[in-house]
Amino acid sequence: MAPTRHITVRRAHTNNLADLDLDIPRHRLVVVVGVSGSGKSSLVFDTIAAEAGYQLGETFPPFTRNRLPKWSRPDAEHIAGLTPVIVIDQRRIGGNARSTVGTITDTWTYLRLLYSRIGTPHVGESNCFSFNDPAGMCPTCSGLGEVVASAVERFLDLDKSLADGGIVLPGFGHGGYWYSLYADIGTFDARTPLRQWSEAERNALLYGGEAAAKLGRRTPKEYEGVVPRFERIYLHTSDNLSERKQDTIRRFTRSQTCPECDGDRLNKAARTAVLLGRTPGEMSRLEVAELLDLVRTIDSAHVAPVVTALTERLDAMVKIGLGYLTLARPTTSLSGGESQRIKTVRHLGSSLTEMTYVVDEPTVGLHPSDVESMVELLEHLCRSGNSVLVVEHDPAVMARADEVIEIGPGAGAAGGRLVFQGTFDDLRRADTPTGRVLRRRALPERAPRPATGSLTVADARRNNLQHLTVQIPRGVMTVLTGVAGSGKSSLATELVDQHEAIVIDQKPVSTNRRSTPITYTGIAPAIRRLFARRNDVPASLFSANSDGGCPDCKGTGVIYTDLAFMEGQEVVCETCHGRRYTPEVLAHTVDGLSIADVDDLTVEQAVSRLPDKGIARALEQLAAVGLGYLRLAQSLSTLSGGECQRVKIAKELREVAQTTTYVLDEPTTGLHMSDIDALLHVLDRLVELGNDVVVIEHNLDVIRRADWLIDLGPGPGRHGGTVLFEGHVADYTGYDTPTCRALADASE
Ligand code: ADP
Ligand code: ADP
Ligand code: ZN
Ligand code: ZN
Repeated sequence: MAPTRHITVRRAHTNNLADLDLDIPRHRLVVVVGVSGSGKSSLVFDTIAAEAGYQLGETFPPFTRNRLPKWSRPDAEHIAGLTPVIVIDQRRIGGNARSTVGTITDTWTYLRLLYSRIGTPHVGESNCFSFNDPAGMCPTCSGLGEVVASAVERFLDLDKSLADGGIVLPGFGHGGYWYSLYADIGTFDARTPLRQWSEAERNALLYGGEAAAKLGRRTPKEYEGVVPRFERIYLHTSDNLSERKQDTIRRFTRSQTCPECDGDRLNKAARTAVLLGRTPGEMSRLEVAELLDLVRTIDSAHVAPVVTALTERLDAMVKIGLGYLTLARPTTSLSGGESQRIKTVRHLGSSLTEMTYVVDEPTVGLHPSDVESMVELLEHLCRSGNSVLVVEHDPAVMARADEVIEIGPGAGAAGGRLVFQGTFDDLRRADTPTGRVLRRRALPERAPRPATGSLTVADARRNNLQHLTVQIPRGVMTVLTGVAGSGKSSLATELVDQHEAIVIDQKPVSTNRRSTPITYTGIAPAIRRLFARRNDVPASLFSANSDGGCPDCKGTGVIYTDLAFMEGQEVVCETCHGRRYTPEVLAHTVDGLSIADVDDLTVEQAVSRLPDKGIARALEQLAAVGLGYLRLAQSLSTLSGGECQRVKIAKELREVAQTTTYVLDEPTTGLHMSDIDALLHVLDRLVELGNDVVVIEHNLDVIRRADWLIDLGPGPGRHGGTVLFEGHVADYTGYDTPTCRALADASE
């Protein structure tokens, strides 16, 4: 049998795909492009990855299958030539405190081997250096590096006496279970506010024992201070704690660095071992780039293969713009882009071949100067015998593809078709949305708008910032630039802390499944009032959540069956056939449309079809941020990070009551080049409304339109954190910095 050279897709109609037929070459770097909402994700994730996941799931016994991610079979007539798919997306890496950059990239595993073989003393097995193994973990913090400690200052209300509830902990107030153990033993004055007690008396109350004895008072032998009692009952217990107890713990404790291991997570033997003059804790706090230099000095033949494997990983991390991270960094603190690049590194060392890697916008969070190295890593995956499918908007990535596939031409129902397949050179000549925008000249320069004042961020020291004091001009758009890890987010966070700015980020808009673009932006009530006015009935009828909803599915359109220990199941409601409303409500119409018909309109259709100027204006804000293809009642839980961020921008555009400072982190994420103009208009609009706009961006079109530029660097981590340039973009020429070079290269 001849080997299949293509992944074949026939008549795919997942989401908006329009009976798409496509042959995708294997063992190649294939970049999928198209305007936002055109169907790239529907093809790559919801069709190809989903089918591979589904078929793989079928090969496992049912018990295992229940533990795998649930893939539903995509809508397609025929898909062939698939191999197992590995999805590398921007979803953050799990919330486990034991997962660090070192453990997730396996670099720590190699370092453990080195400590056990060539460290001093040789300490036996390498798991003696694992903080996730009883053989290596610090016994006090169980390898977490942190312990939960009493927040004693929260225990007392000094303005109250014991009788008035001066001990704030539950159960210690008047009538509480433990109250009499303190108030009724004759040792303490229960009627005097605690503030009037001497320090020594308060210590006796809190700590008992020594502190009480020193006071020279006769305390009952079994007297136990408030703090030891709290810790015995709440912290040093192996019982399963009730919700209420857990809540008490959250309120009256804080986590602090483990006093035994000082955050090193390891037991004494492990944390005092030395390799290349460093303990494991010191090693884990080196930046990856420094660690790499250090590891390269090892020349023991005994461990050569381990050193090679470790240097390859570390080198890949540096190349991909992660050289500023430390192995000790908890994965929970990584950004979406950082998480994605970590995932990429994990697969580089893999000797699996014939995999299909599916990568979602790998350039997110990357400075133009680092994009090249990212592409090289993807090419490396191809050369090792795999297929790589990348969804990407950056022309620098398209230029390196073996083949470019464009889905389009428009968004939603106007997209979902194959409009181009070929080389990047051909794409630049093609009459498609991407081809046309590639040929377009750079956006015109414009004179910077004058600032109306300024905000001072004073002495910023967060993370790697080196005592920065910067002026952020008001009433204009400021762009923060710099390589990944240079300190942009740290500076933005400092601005938010010092001036309470509003962050518009890419986190999910809402976890409520009933949340839709029109409920979230507040347009829904106006639509209900329009229906009420036209039909002369109460507006509440047109709310599926209340009066007008189908009684059987409570207006959700689906019936959810909870199957106890198996995955629950959802089926379309048989009463309303998924239309969510009662037939009486659906009989009321506006210009021939029922409320369910309106829910099904896209934002763009609704703008032209709903006869209400106010509603149309409000919906236009959603269209303006490039979301005209969303359906009015589409659950917000289906949106990507970039789409969530744009929904939030649209909402802010409606609220003109008072001006504020907005901070946006990479708002171009997920946006096609042609949509970036629209985004810029929206940012301009925020400025025209009198707001201050601060944007973290790598996109050169956005950078060029800044009224004010603050470039951080020069490098990542401790090589960054200083200001390289503040001023008008047009004046940023002739500097030897990554951003200045990127600006110059792009305008050649
Ligand atoms: P792209 O990746 O090109 O931005 P998508 O494949 O995400 O586009 O979306 C294509 C179309 O399918 C859009 O109209 C989008 O609103 C719709 N869509 C995407 N996911 C879902 C979903 N889970 N349910 C319903 N519609 C969806
Ligand atoms: P940028 O936004 O320019 O990519 P960041 O401000 O995120 O840079 O990071 C600057 C430096 O601060 C980096 O060395 C990074 O590792 C460090 N850093 C950022 N967030 C944290 C955190 N939560 N914990 C520890 N270090 C952090
Ligand atoms: Zn410890
Ligand atoms: Zn129903």
